[in-house]
Amino acid sequence: MKIAVYPGSFDPITKGHLDILKTGAGIFDKVIIAVARNSEKKGFLPVDERVRLIRESVTHLDNVEVDSFEGLTIEYAKKHGAQVLIRGLRAVSDFEYELQLSQANSALCEDIKTVFLTTKPKYNFISSSTIKEIYLNNGDISKFVPQPVYDYLVKRKVC
Ligand code: ADP
Repeated sequence: MKIAVYPGSFDPITKGHLDILKTGAGIFDKVIIAVARNSEKKGFLPVDERVRLIRESVTHLDNVEVDSFEGLTIEYAKKHGAQVLIRGLRAVSDFEYELQLSQANSALCEDIKTVFLTTKPKYNFISSSTIKEIYLNNGDISKFVPQPVYDYLVKRKVC
């Protein structure tokens, strides 16, 4: 059974993340999308809300599990029997950081490989921070986030 972990902040999950996840779910037997609890990074949404919004956004993907974790991603992946980490690439600007991260992870555990996936061009430019910026300036985010995120942010007007 090929298990992949897709780690990230997902603050909030976007249609770009979902597209990566869908591709991953088509390649691997199980994908665990795991929200990192990073005590140093002050988040936009609480981690538990991010997890809940992801859960509501992935009900159509049977082989996807949603979780959160603290500490090293590679340790989390090992503990869950994963052989693969999934990361997404948008532009050359992502590449340097992602390459470094994947090399650090392989130095920690060479059996777990990082696989890079890309999205459909229409989702390529989407990032959680762009969405926050648009949202906080009262722009329309409906095209960029799954419905549960839209409902949560816009209907409840969280910030
Ligand atoms: P992190 O804080 O770990 O970078 P993010 O939630 O911002 O977490 O992103 C998680 C992963 O998803 C990263 O590998 C990022 O490059 C990728 N990603 C995010 N948005 C997109 C997108 N629109 N297209 C492709 N990859 C994406």
